[in-house]
Amino acid sequence: ARRPLIAGNWKMNGLRADGLKLVEGLVAHLRSGDQAFDMLVCPPTTLVAEVAAAATGSTLLVGGQDCHAKEKGAHTGDTSAWMLKDVGASCVIVGHSERRQDHAESNAVVKAKAGAAHAAGLIAIVCIGETLDQRDRGEALSVVTSQLLESLPEGATPENTVVAYEPVWAIGTGKVATPDDVAEVHAEIRKQAREKMGDDAARLRILYGGSVKPDNAKELLALTDVDGALVGGASLKVEDFWAIAQGC
Ligand code: 13P
Repeated sequence: ARRPLIAGNWKMNGLRADGLKLVEGLVAHLRSGDQAFDMLVCPPTTLVAEVAAAATGSTLLVGGQDCHAKEKGAHTGDTSAWMLKDVGASCVIVGHSERRQDHAESNAVVKAKAGAAHAAGLIAIVCIGETLDQRDRGEALSVVTSQLLESLPEGATPENTVVAYEPVWAIGTGKVATPDDVAEVHAEIRKQAREKMGDDAARLRILYGGSVKPDNAKELLALTDVDGALVGGASLKVEDFWAIAQGC
């Protein structure tokens, strides 16, 4: 049995007061009882340290949204996986489609970043997903497969790696992939992950992301190979994010 992971990607949202309020609300919910899921928030880099401090003593996990492939050096504006780990992060998202698009990140770059995350002792949440054009051309499965195989570093295991399937056309659009489409892609991801992990792929957590909301979460989370959600917009409100987790 894979323990579901409900992850919030705040993207470039949240000043200190917003972030701390959000975390306090989630921590209060988590303290109210035992949960059958893990919960993670990935605030903007400026808030990782403070949010991690506010989450100390609770089960709430904190992560970054990106990291550099190197440990340190002349890389102005970048943040290393070791820096995230140092301030209390346990995870980092790599290869989000917004990074792939806005910063031209290739699979090779994503793979190097995931490798750095592992070396620093972080869980890498490796994002993959096809564009609308690719889906319309019938290429969804082949695109996702090549992204997966080219983005997972050597040494990726179900303990240090989570895969997030985020169809680009479903992100921030309110358009959700149908349960049949999600089930098909997730099954293919697990099958392909065997190339890298062998039988351990059975323990790999595969998240769905793209317009996950309280009213569609339960149906998506019930699918066999869906082991959690990577939530953008709806992770910015305590009650919405908590309601999504109740779909586990
Ligand atoms: P939305 O939930 O806002 O569609 O964003 C999904 C996402 O990109 C999470 O990483």
